[in-house]
Amino acid sequence: MKGEYKTKARNMIIDYLKANADKRFTASDIVKALSKNGETIDRSTIYRNIDRLFEEGKLLRYKENDINAACYQYSEEHDSCHKHMHAQCANCGKIYHLDNNIFADAEEKLKEEYGLEIDFGKTVLIGRCEECETKE
Ligand SMILES: [Zn+2]
Ligand SMILES: [Zn+2]
Repeated sequence: MKGEYKTKARNMIIDYLKANADKRFTASDIVKALSKNGETIDRSTIYRNIDRLFEEGKLLRYKENDINAACYQYSEEHDSCHKHMHAQCANCGKIYHLDNNIFADAEEKLKEEYGLEIDFGKTVLIGRCEECETKE
């Protein structure tokens, strides 16, 4: 039964983060969200699973300046994150994994006109997401 409980907790965290892959969460956000769904998984089990998922590369983790906690976001594309460009909302921190093809023209022009080769994996565009734009 114990193993079953463990798998269940893990799957629930993955399912929840997957369904909200465009958002970032702190560990306590995840605890809150899961208990709202009527689940009874204890906090330490959730924390342990989050750590493990991060180590496995299933979650992105980053630090936010406005809140004093690490944020997590589900990423199926984690394997290729060093190859593509990201965009982040300056307000809520939401991360976007961008398709490099969008920048094919810009990449060519930067090379031609500036002699600059862009490192996609290290480039983050800063913007403001739709959600934040409509909130204020
Ligand atoms: Zn990525
Ligand atoms: Zn935002």
